[in-house]
Amino acid sequence: MKFKYVVVGAGLSGLTIAERIANELDEEVLIIEKRPHIGGNIYDSYKEGILIQNYGPHIFHTKDKEVYEYLSQFTEWHEYVHRVLSYVDGKLVPMPICIDTLNKLYDLDLDEESMKEYIANVKEDIGEIKSSEDVVLKNAGRDIYEKLFKNYTEKQWGTSAANLDSSVISRIPFRFNHDTRYFEDKYQGMPKEGYTKMCENMIKNNKIHIILNTDYKEVIDDIEYEKLIYTGPIDYFYDNKFGKLLYRSLKFVTETHDLYSYQEVAVVNYPNDHDFTRITEFKKLTGQEYPNKTIIMKEYPGFDDEPCYPYPTEEYKNKFKQYKKLMDKENDVIFIGRLAEYKYYNMDLVVKSALNAFKNKIKE
Ligand code: FAD
Repeated sequence: MKFKYVVVGAGLSGLTIAERIANELDEEVLIIEKRPHIGGNIYDSYKEGILIQNYGPHIFHTKDKEVYEYLSQFTEWHEYVHRVLSYVDGKLVPMPICIDTLNKLYDLDLDEESMKEYIANVKEDIGEIKSSEDVVLKNAGRDIYEKLFKNYTEKQWGTSAANLDSSVISRIPFRFNHDTRYFEDKYQGMPKEGYTKMCENMIKNNKIHIILNTDYKEVIDDIEYEKLIYTGPIDYFYDNKFGKLLYRSLKFVTETHDLYSYQEVAVVNYPNDHDFTRITEFKKLTGQEYPNKTIIMKEYPGFDDEPCYPYPTEEYKNKFKQYKKLMDKENDVIFIGRLAEYKYYNMDLVVKSALNAFKNKIKE
């Protein structure tokens, strides 16, 4: 077989770059995917008539007009603004923290000014921020840390927030207003017919060829190509030369309930109860109507199931740096996506980085 371009992985990064190669350069491109489906982790499918996201809840949100307009060529959007509640002390309180969180949690009647005073009284005087624990103690104090963050982080990562890079929690905003939205981005929503349909639309070009159910190493020696675009795990690409990179994984367990509605919002976090971190009710994300039946998903963190989050400690960051030195020397391989770059990437950044790689490394 001979293809100028070969893409490993049919996730959002692989599909974006393949779409550009076929539609803008009018070139043939082969995608090799080891799973039985396209879409990577954003894959969704119907279960008992209800659209579910097989690898956990994915909400599209971005500030980036280019990314929004790019994906809007392949889908219409169901208008959805993400709101999350956290189950603490028998109450459901909004996350991220805002005035309403504290009012509900502590039966208070704070406004913007009095919330600032409240926080000023409880926050801890931490000098240099070294960990995720420090971030919360410095911004919100110990009680809020213990009720909302400590156990959730421990469940999610299998270690204390004191051992985790500050970046893990600093992504979560603290708001001195009544904004209960999870994301503040201008563009947010869900693909009207689902992510899989959007992905199918991206590759509707007969110059794009796909082989599913195939690890690229089984076939790559039989293919002649000029450029390889690699979106799989970077340690695997280099045969684990510097050791395996660690991922925190999730086991996704779905349940069908004979109810119209299971919970108040699409996602409820359980920081202090149960072994799972959160419950997602898919109908509330997608807006799908279905009488007297709903499907929920519980997420159980661990190390053995679906690799989800690069492990945010110095040890693994340093290990990745060793791989990065080799990656920088490759002339015929372009590395993009969450697994190749060993980076937690939201969907919009995955698309952005694939579009940039196309512009700067392929089209140039
Ligand atoms: P992937 O989707 O992982 O695609 C890589 C593909 O490569 C996979 O299909 C894999 O099977 C294939 N592959 C791997 N190895 C090989 C091989 N050897 N041979 C052939 N194929 C191979 N982002 C948001 O913007 N909003 C959200 O709400 C959100 N929620 C998330 C929730 C969870 C639980 C997780 C884990 C992530 C979430 N994300 C979210 C991030 C989002 O999933 C990623 O940005 C996106 O899926 C990454 O796309 P990708 O193509 O880089 O990787």
